[in-house]
Amino acid sequence: MNRIAIFGGTFNPIHNGHLHIAQQFQKQLRAQRVLFIPTFVPPHKRAPDLAPAEDRLEMCRLACEGTPFEVSDLEIRRGGPSYTAETLLALKREYPDAELCFLTGEDMFLTLETWYKPDVIYSLATICAAPRSTDGLEKLRAYAEKLARHGAKVILQNIDYLPVSSTMVREAVRQNRAIDALVPAEVARYIRENGLYH
Ligand code: ATP
Repeated sequence: MNRIAIFGGTFNPIHNGHLHIAQQFQKQLRAQRVLFIPTFVPPHKRAPDLAPAEDRLEMCRLACEGTPFEVSDLEIRRGGPSYTAETLLALKREYPDAELCFLTGEDMFLTLETWYKPDVIYSLATICAAPRSTDGLEKLRAYAEKLARHGAKVILQNIDYLPVSSTMVREAVRQNRAIDALVPAEVARYIRENGLYH
């Protein structure tokens, strides 16, 4: 089975938690490819601590250098709201024979029904979810059963999550604390050299 894992996120910035779950999923799903797809967020919607799309994309590229992962600028190039349903439609057109596996952490997974055209998402991709808290797996199970009743195909992976978030990285930068344990070295350097998140 030709599986392509798709990992969407704001990646503001990408961190070791993202890389960890991508690695684990790639192994467990035996995915041929893993695509990181940073969302576009229009400039007028930018929260004060949201880095420009080009910087978030570049940090993903730096983090994925020397790994089996790829970075796609599909959503950033498309502009406008980054609807996963539209991204999956575009990828299905590009890779009609592949099984698309959409990777998501607990927090995003538990909101899936509220996303734009969830039925399109369920019909195009296998949803692959991982916990992000100590009691996460139980919550994932209950929600997966609910989505399955709506026709979704869900795979839950009991991956040891790393307690890292982009929020933690941005807070550490603001407080002049080291971020070397949270992000790859090249990402830390990029943040420093470009004065992001201060
Ligand atoms: P923020 O702190 O700014 O909200 P974030 O750390 O949640 O950011 P996102 O880019 O919003 O990062 O997340 C993209 C995807 O990665 C989401 O599906 C999210 O659940 C998942 N994810 C992020 N961090 C982890 C982690 N440490 N373990 C498991 N999944 C994660």
